[in-house]
Parts: sequence; structure tokens; C-alpha cells
Amino acid sequence: MQQPRFKRIMLKVGGESLMGKREYGIDPQTTLEVAQRIKVIHDRGVEIAIVIGGGNIFRGLAASKQGLDRATGDYMGMLATVMNGLALQDALESIGIHTRLQSALQMPAVAESFIRRKALSHLRKGRVLILAAGTGVPYVTTDTGAALHSLELHCDVLMKATKVDGIYETDPIQDPKARRYKTLTFDDAIRLPGVQVMDTAALAMAQENDMPIMVFKLFEKDHLEQAIDGKDIGTYVSNQVKTVLAK
Ligand code: UDP
Repeated sequence: MQQPRFKRIMLKVGGESLMGKREYGIDPQTTLEVAQRIKVIHDRGVEIAIVIGGGNIFRGLAASKQGLDRATGDYMGMLATVMNGLALQDALESIGIHTRLQSALQMPAVAESFIRRKALSHLRKGRVLILAAGTGVPYVTTDTGAALHSLELHCDVLMKATKVDGIYETDPIQDPKARRYKTLTFDDAIRLPGVQVMDTAALAMAQENDMPIMVFKLFEKDHLEQAIDGKDIGTYVSNQVKTVLAK
């Protein structure tokens, strides 16, 4: 079997990936499915850090539109990511993967606090590191947390799991004729109006610090593994590529 293209990855898993067919919350069976997909690349020796979102439970911005103080809502959103982190940890451990959950908000009864040097040590030891509470501060999202942590943990790539298999010209669910980008420059990822893949703050941080982003579909069979092998799936955003549509 070939060597994976990426040795250490930052995987951004949105909260909605744990929801299954529910409208809200966590579906244990779906969470187990996510864990099984992660196991495949873990078994191949890839070091994996995961930033988990909370959108299946709570988003500060949405709550602030209904009158809640934005910062309070954002802290509630961060707490939601801790719940998801616990669920994903449980699923991974149930299939024999050693994990550590670290939280950017201190919560010692359920998670280690985020300590960079400890986080690096967990990765070196082959533990799947789950990072909850994003950056630990309000007014940003877990995408920014993923960009930030990917840099400080020296990941080779930030892999963003999405519902569709890459970045399209426009939303392919609304417009079936939309074409997928094979590669995309950061400038285009930020500038093109139809492209909504990540917060601008996260994209700008990745661009400035040369962290490539791979967008792929988590629930497509073998997609994660193929992405790790550098196969032509998903969309690769980098300072080293030009914007090219897939054939
Ligand atoms: N959040 C925050 N700071 C962070 C990360 C998250 O305030 O560093 C809050 C914010 O309210 C966000 C919520 O937590 O909406 C859940 O995270 P996110 O929306 O990124 O989850 P996802 O869409 O990935 O499921």
C-alpha cells in the first residue's frame, strides 16, 4: 500500500455530520459511521487532529438574531462542540482507537485543557486528538479554530469535510449543472460569490500561513482515504495551485 500523501492532518468535522437524519442533535449510529471512516486512515498511520463543530446543537450567531447576546450565544455554541467531542470520542474508542479530547474552554471533568505541547505529544503517540470549543473565544467559528490549530500543530493539510464532494461554482444542490473545482486559489475561494466553503477569517489565516485546504465529502465511500492518497477528488485550495475546474 502506498504511503499517504499527508502524514499529519487537521480534520474539520461540522456538527451536522453527527446528526444523521435528525433535525437537531447527535445520532449515535451516524457518529459511529464517522468514527469508522476516521479509523481507515488512522490504521494507515496518519496522525489525526479533529476540530469538531457544534452547529447541530447551537450557533451563537443564529441565537443572537433572536435576541441573545452574541458572545453569550457563542460560548453556548462552544459548549455544544464539547458535547459533540464527547460523542465522537466515545464512538472512536468503541472501535478501539485511543483518543484524547482537549477543550479550549477549561472543563477538567470531561476534557483536558488545550495545551499545545501535550496535543503534539498525543499526535506523535498515534492518539486521535479531538479539539473542542474552537478557539475558546467568541465571534469566530470552529473553521477559524481548525485553521489556527492546524498551524500550531504543524499539520500538512486542513481537511474540511462537507456535504458535497468539493467546492463547486455554485451550490450543486440548488444547481445540478454547477461544476466542481479541482484546485482553487485562496484569492478565488475568498472572492468568488458562489463559493462558500469556510469563513473568510479561516481562509485568510490559511492563505497567509501557507496551509493548504482539502475539501471532500465525508459520507462518500473511500473519499477520505483517497484524499489522503492525493487522488483527484474533492477540491484542493493552496497558494501553489491555479484555479482549475474538474473534467
Ligand atoms: N464558536 C465560537 N468560537 C469558536 C468556535 C465556535 O464562538 O472558536 C461558537 C459559535 O457560536 C459557533 C458555535 O460555537 O456558531 C458552533 O461552532 P460552528 O458554527 O463552527 O459549528 P459547525 O458549523 O462546524 O458545526
